[in-house]
Amino acid sequence: MVSNLPRLVGIFGNPLGHSLSPQMQNAAFAALGINYTYFPFQVLPEQLHQAVLAMKALNFAGANVTIPYKEAVIPYLDWLSREAELIGAVNTIVYHNGELIGYNTDGEGFLMSLGKDLGMSPAGKRVVLLGAGGATRAVAVTLGSNGAAEITIANRTKSKADELARYTSSVTGCRTRAVLLEKRDLQDLLLSADLLINCTPVGMYPKEGLSPLDSNLLKPHLTVIDLIYRPRETALLRAAQAIGCRTLDGLGMLLYQGALAFKLWTDREPPVDIMRKALIAGLNKVIS
Ligand code: NAP
Repeated sequence: MVSNLPRLVGIFGNPLGHSLSPQMQNAAFAALGINYTYFPFQVLPEQLHQAVLAMKALNFAGANVTIPYKEAVIPYLDWLSREAELIGAVNTIVYHNGELIGYNTDGEGFLMSLGKDLGMSPAGKRVVLLGAGGATRAVAVTLGSNGAAEITIANRTKSKADELARYTSSVTGCRTRAVLLEKRDLQDLLLSADLLINCTPVGMYPKEGLSPLDSNLLKPHLTVIDLIYRPRETALLRAAQAIGCRTLDGLGMLLYQGALAFKLWTDREPPVDIMRKALIAGLNKVIS
């Protein structure tokens, strides 16, 4: 007999700020009549292990994991999906048959947004990524594994770009180099790049006037993507649109990583339009 007892889904992070995931996922559960409730859990580092173990004791359906625990959570899980293993980070946990399984839907969510929102495949593309943190890692490994011709990682701290470039080329086989996030290192590269992706938080609310890049470096042939979704139109995207670049904001990545997680927890097709509406409503509330 299928039980219809309510089940919990959570997000573990610290700090959690205004996470939009509870609103997005609860709207999706309600729309499909699934008796799950999604809660934000701000977890202290020394209690992460207990929080993950509690998922078993309390029969959670699953969880999301966010900053700063995407890597730290791995030792507490029973096994990892291929993507999570490759990226080296987990943003989604499924509790199934007494086991906790770690997935990473960030990279695939980015890829889906690229395909569905821009009609673009990474195959053969020359990509410049700004930043060398967790989001860059998921995007670099995913693009490298999906046929990108060449990846450049530009970061303020060169050693982190070096480490991530080495890692990306070793796990994906895609030629990946590291440079400093500086005009003289980027200007020639951007003449021949296809895709420029901001994976730094520069330009995010409440400092939305800032851009990670001198706008003179932008060229009309570039497709410019900002992973930031708060605000949706960042200073970088505004400057890119002004010279005729195709642009994409970070809402699609947030939406599709959530839709993929929903499918993993429920085994049902995610109601993507309802999830998008809930995200946009949540964003408007936070910013207004
Ligand atoms: P993270 O791990 O903390 O990495 C941040 C990166 O940005 C680091 O490489 C850091 O450089 C660089 N950075 C930070 N402040 C900077 C500044 N003032 N100037 C130049 N570089 C700076 O963060 P993350 O998890 O990768 O997230 C990065 C951004 O992506 C955030 O805005 C986040 O909201 C967004 N994101 C969006 C989605 C989505 O679904 N749309 C998903 C994940 C992340 P150093 O190495 O020099 O410190």
